[in-house]
Amino acid sequence: MNLQQRDKLVNWHPYTQMKTAEDAIPIVKGKGAYLFDDKGKQYIDAVSSWWVTLHGHAHPYIAQKVSEQLQTLEQVIFAGFTHQPAIQLSENLLKLLPDNQEKVFYSDNGSTAVEVALKMCIQFAHNQGKKKTKILAFKDAYHGDTFGAMSVSGRSVWTKPFGDMLFDVAFIDTPTSENLRGLQSQISHIADEIACFIYEPLVQGAAGMLTHNPEDLSELMKFCKKQNILLIQDEVFTGFGRTGKLFAADYLTEKPDIMCFSKGLTGGTMPMGITTSSNEIFNAFLSEDKYKTLFHGHSFTANPLACTAALASMELLLNKETQDNIRLITDKHKEFSQILNQHPKVENVRQTGTILAWDIKTEQGTSYFNTIGKFFYKEFLNKGIILRPLGNIMYLVPPYCITTEDLEYIYQTILQVLQMKPN
Ligand SMILES: *Cc1c(COP(=O)(O)O)cnc(C)c1O
Repeated sequence: MNLQQRDKLVNWHPYTQMKTAEDAIPIVKGKGAYLFDDKGKQYIDAVSSWWVTLHGHAHPYIAQKVSEQLQTLEQVIFAGFTHQPAIQLSENLLKLLPDNQEKVFYSDNGSTAVEVALKMCIQFAHNQGKKKTKILAFKDAYHGDTFGAMSVSGRSVWTKPFGDMLFDVAFIDTPTSENLRGLQSQISHIADEIACFIYEPLVQGAAGMLTHNPEDLSELMKFCKKQNILLIQDEVFTGFGRTGKLFAADYLTEKPDIMCFSKGLTGGTMPMGITTSSNEIFNAFLSEDKYKTLFHGHSFTANPLACTAALASMELLLNKETQDNIRLITDKHKEFSQILNQHPKVENVRQTGTILAWDIKTEQGTSYFNTIGKFFYKEFLNKGIILRPLGNIMYLVPPYCITTEDLEYIYQTILQVLQMKPN
């Protein structure tokens, strides 16, 4: 049996209708922006392998650092013990974040980083003898697939079977200069019950790369602060350069209380989640009373290998070369978005740094199940590009090491495929 046949017998793939899905493509090697399948075919990874890969696949510097760490200390319980990679990573990361972020809590992925953040906020109130159980979130938010993270995500096809079991969340529209007043009055009516507001800053990824203005979000954050609503800024996707700056936070005038990271945190090499908090949050858990402890942890909390990968990735991210590449991708995207803007089959072109997205006009309208996405996906695969449309929404999230030649090839192929008629 070949890899595809063996895979089909034993593997259940994520976000995949296993009855109708095409056989999974076996990938045997990665290098830079490329992935190679078992037949030697090469693909440009234009979605950074689900938005995680920053510096390219199998980066030699990260590989070397992780391999050294693997032979030194691979894992240690993080309750009662600590290690250099975790200490160094926390120090390095906090230096780059808004100056009120002072403590780092480790977990394994974006969803758990969100779970931790939610528990911090709910217990923050609880530890002060207050009961605040409502949470504020954007209508089409996406914060992950565990139950808490699903609860604060917009209700959609993804959450439908679990609808009755998700906790109550007050959903609001994303802010615009027009609706800001309305949002404020909506929030002020329930402000006393609200523990926190969780949001994806600037770009709502899974919702279809929907964007909003930093000025409007800053205003909304400021208002929530005045109402004593804690702010959880979910930078799982936007963190580590995606938006053109190191963090979406660098566009905002207000500071969040808590931040969540994963995806690009380790350069996309190893699973890891981080929740950072202000000392105001942290101090509310300090007590002689053991019940005020944050009782949360995962077996692989602050895994030394993942910490080492993150340290190496952040070092690469701060290099001049990487920063120049991020700027170059941003500029190239800007040029291409002007071409897309003129295209009769394209609408709602939007860009934030290295993230470029647009809708394809179809009679089916914008939806996750729009079939045009599948047609495009296959055409791009044929042409050696991995693009994964969300229904009729297409986006590019390339790794920062991508060359201008490869970007040009992707742009040209997009224009070519846009001319094709889906059957
Ligand atoms: C992907 C994502 C998550 C969930 O992260 P996982 O590692 O997939 O659990 C949470 N928040 C945002 C904004 C994301 O894009």
